[in-house]
Amino acid sequence: MPSESIVIIEGDITRQNVDAIVNAANTSLLGGGGVDGAIHRAAGPELLEECRGLHGCPAGEAKITSGYRLPARWVIHTVGPVWRGGKDFEDELLANCYRRSLEVAVQNRVRSLAFPAISTGAYGFPLQRATRIAIREVRAFLETNPAIEKVFFVCFDSYTRNVYESVLAEDV
Ligand code: ADP
Repeated sequence: MPSESIVIIEGDITRQNVDAIVNAANTSLLGGGGVDGAIHRAAGPELLEECRGLHGCPAGEAKITSGYRLPARWVIHTVGPVWRGGKDFEDELLANCYRRSLEVAVQNRVRSLAFPAISTGAYGFPLQRATRIAIREVRAFLETNPAIEKVFFVCFDSYTRNVYESVLAEDV
């Protein structure tokens, strides 16, 4: 896998020109705060309408909708785990979010997609631990799925970007 296929940037995921952006949603899929609220505001009310028809989503799963007014054609909604100390399958559920989002992307012929730092805001997942899982899962997936050409990790602040860059540079 060419290492340039993973790119870390600092910015707002709603502004990304990619085939699909991933939303860190909640199980209702009916909107919330943080990145979820930003995506719904930028996409417009049609996004909520489509989400109503999906009837929610369990943690670790992913569902796709159109992107409406976003530059991205698609939004892949995934539900991260709420951090409860680490013994409640949080690591596995977070890994599933990345894997399932990538699978849904491939099924919809997505070639470029952008992830936020799922679960690391309101859901309280420790950032470095979450970042290791995110990068490990995306790397492993790209090794066997050349259909995905580029994955962006969109970090909302410089602290998050620094953590991502140091984890990407770690030997694995
Ligand atoms: P969760 O409930 O999964 O923890 P949050 O939205 O609270 O989701 O936070 C997840 C991450 O998304 C945090 O790092 C937060 O800073 C970041 N974030 C918030 N708004 C945006 C945005 N517009 N673009 C990219 N990342 C964002």
